[in-house]
Amino acid sequence: MARQKLTVVAPAYNEVEGIEPFVKSLLEVLDSLPYDSTVLLVNDGATDGTGEVLDRLHAAHPGRITVLHLSRNFGHQAALTAGMDHADGDAVICMDADLQHPPSLIPELVERWQQGFDIVQAVRRQTANVGWMKNLTSRAFYAAINFLSKTHIEPNGCDFRLLSRPVVEVFRKELRERDRFVRGLVSWVGFRTSFIEFDASPRYAGESKYSFRKMLSFARTGLISFSKMPLKVAVFFGFSVSLLSLSYGVFAVFAYIFLSKQVIPGWASTILVGTFLGGCQLLFLGLIGEYIATIFDEIKGRPLYIVAREQRAATGRAESAAVDGNADTLRSQQP
Ligand code: UDP
Ligand code: MG
Repeated sequence: MARQKLTVVAPAYNEVEGIEPFVKSLLEVLDSLPYDSTVLLVNDGATDGTGEVLDRLHAAHPGRITVLHLSRNFGHQAALTAGMDHADGDAVICMDADLQHPPSLIPELVERWQQGFDIVQAVRRQTANVGWMKNLTSRAFYAAINFLSKTHIEPNGCDFRLLSRPVVEVFRKELRERDRFVRGLVSWVGFRTSFIEFDASPRYAGESKYSFRKMLSFARTGLISFSKMPLKVAVFFGFSVSLLSLSYGVFAVFAYIFLSKQVIPGWASTILVGTFLGGCQLLFLGLIGEYIATIFDEIKGRPLYIVAREQRAATGRAESAAVDGNADTLRSQQP
């Protein structure tokens, strides 16, 4: 019987210093396992020479390393998707390329897969050198999303996990939404899931690519694509406020007719009510706008990513020839 195959997917964006040590320690771990394995590195439009280093790594290990060069920076989640689309292993392991996700955990992930789990999710116990601000905002985000969404999303989950072939196929064929929050989608698909805790190390080199703005946009994607609750809250709030203002209106008419002597027509209350209602309307219009923007992105149907060039590992199976991230393209290329 042919040996089972593992594919490790790692997106890299401007990781010029850390990528070689990462690949070295990854290959060491993979070599110690009784499986065929390839490493699929996705160059997410790096501008610091990471692409050239990846080409060199492919040249040095032509049978082990596949490199996918995206045509520009599409973002971590899209790069991860590109990697998953092109991975042909019986199990696919996704991880960051900055050594924050220790390759030494891979044997444990694989063991759980062998025990029959389809998803083995690594969960951060703590991240060395992470500021209190990032910790706090991350906690607040997971509390909010789990309060608002029906899909439970593991706090401290990260994009370090093993997915069995059936799960990867679901991602390749069915889950093509553009506003992607892979962590949520992994919870959403179901399947037998196991969790493994690990201590994330500090970055080997360079800086986090998640600026505060990117984190905010990531959180927005998570919330909008996994919860309709903000819309429901808006409706509830709008309804309550209209009820209040209606009662105030009734009171005003009553006062005008029966208490006209006592009523001093003050503009303060008028202004207050006007600005408050105006504020609510703008807020909720903006909120609805966020959902419409997401629908707009979906409806345009643009690919999730574009592959400019691929350097395939020589022994890779000749499947998964997708050239872009479009569901239709993927489907039409299925055998
Ligand atoms: N990354 C990417 N595209 C991006 C941003 C990040 O492919 O636009 C990669 C990055 O090279 C790393 C992983 O995604 O391998 C996680 O990014 P990072 O380490 O910056 O995030 P953090 O660990 O700080 O949350
Ligand atoms: Mg990192």
